Amino acid sequence: MKAPARAVPLINPTRCTGCGWCVAVCAPRVLWLRAEGGRKTSALHDAAGCTGCALCAVRCPFGAITMLRVKAPTASSKISI
Ligand code: SF4
Ligand code: SF4
Repeated sequence: MKAPARAVPLINPTRCTGCGWCVAVCAPRVLWLRAEGGRKTSALHDAAGCTGCALCAVRCPFGAITMLRVKAPTASSKISI
């Protein structure tokens, strides 16, 4: 059986300011803020738990999130650019 495709957020760390709005609107709590290189950026820590609702992308004031279609993401899937 073919694995279903689903959309998950692709976060551009260059555009992300670490404001946390996407984390706040994510109902299943699969986004968190990660400190790296002296600044915070949003990261998807559980791709399998993402419902693909795209609320995070809609809420991001800085256009840092693009929804990307992937095949059956797992909890350990790394979605990055
Ligand atoms: S809402 Fe956008 S800018 Fe703010 S933390 Fe999330 S991805 Fe980064
Ligand atoms: S698409 Fe929805 S469930 Fe997935 S990370 Fe964004 S807000 Fe959370």
